[in-house]
Amino acid sequence: MLATSLLHAAALLLTAPAQDTLSPAAHRVLADVRYLSADAREGRGIGTGGLADAGRYIADAFRRARLKPAADGSFFQPFTIAADAPAVMHTHLAGAETRNVVAVLPGRDPGLRSEVVVVGAHYDHLGLGGFGALDPDSTGRVHNGADDNASGSAALLEIARQLRSRRPARTILFIAFSGEELGDLGSSYFVKHPLVEPIDSVYAMVNLDMVGRLRNDRLLALGAASAKEFPGLLDSLNAAEGHFDLHASGDGWGPSDHASFFAAKRPVLHFFTDLHEDYHRSTDDWERIDAAGLARVATFAAGVAWTLANRPAPLTFVDAPPPLATTGGQGYGAYLGTIPDMSESPGGVRITGVRAGSPAEQAGLKGGDIITAIGAKTVANLYDMTDALRSHQAGDTVAIVLRRGDAEVHVTAVLGKRT
Ligand SMILES: [Zn+2]
Repeated sequence: MLATSLLHAAALLLTAPAQDTLSPAAHRVLADVRYLSADAREGRGIGTGGLADAGRYIADAFRRARLKPAADGSFFQPFTIAADAPAVMHTHLAGAETRNVVAVLPGRDPGLRSEVVVVGAHYDHLGLGGFGALDPDSTGRVHNGADDNASGSAALLEIARQLRSRRPARTILFIAFSGEELGDLGSSYFVKHPLVEPIDSVYAMVNLDMVGRLRNDRLLALGAASAKEFPGLLDSLNAAEGHFDLHASGDGWGPSDHASFFAAKRPVLHFFTDLHEDYHRSTDDWERIDAAGLARVATFAAGVAWTLANRPAPLTFVDAPPPLATTGGQGYGAYLGTIPDMSESPGGVRITGVRAGSPAEQAGLKGGDIITAIGAKTVANLYDMTDALRSHQAGDTVAIVLRRGDAEVHVTAVLGKRT
């Protein structure tokens, strides 16, 4: 029928140019994301053939970039999931074998090449859901993890492709970590068994975890407070070539692999395009990835890694106490001052108001707002909200995502002390 054909043609005209305007880098990262987050990869759960295939795909990409294997002629660093890893107690994965994928771009400067810049991204995800997933109704469905973290893995490969033919002063190590979703297991294994000895030779670690959903140019560079030089360095690179709405802040703790390096007192950066409603759900699919934004983040992170690998001076590490959750401290965590509505609100915690003078009031929260994320944690219910606040201390600055009517609103709060 004519009308339908016309509509169909119009739709093609509307969609086709968008595809054609993707840059070559955006095409490459999109191809990587689509491979890594295809249903055939089985959600890249530990112990699956899908995760093994993803590891081989990453090793092949490193080989094609003519990078060198880091471990005795192999790109793979195998490790066993320890039975006493806290997250493993909820699974049947104790004793399972998995592996990091590690490649080297050797440094050229005789005085600096023993120092290493690590560029890392985890490539495992939640498999069929269940443990770690936020959608218990979808257990058994493949959780593709396109943003978490096929996006960061694709960025890692793109950074390797962009830097491969250049000779940095320091050595650059590219690492795809496994076991992140079970508690940063691959990165903590690497920190204990660094293929470069000692771990102190790591000059800085750059982590890419969830970088596929750039919105309004907003890019977070968490960990920016872990070296005195980071904020200035990031600002000048962003002004020159990034052009993001860049938010560089925070210590080096956080729920991803950079925390393993920060615990070993190395400066870290975590690039992140922030949480969204598909986080840790079976709907985190490649169709929702912003390939152009992902390529921009990868190119910017490549520039950051390149700058770090070549600047002559040392970095000034800035330590921070571990958050309460890491030290096993219980307590009630930091204070926000919201008054939650105890009735059920789907996909978040609805508040009826805020306490006078509270951090929530200062951040501009209002009655009727539905809080959906605090810091790096999705807030689906009051338990999540308590957990999120427990993982922070008074004085921490946290990003809060909320729904206000039809709008998604981002605010920042400085948490207080519970009295
Ligand atoms: Zn995750």
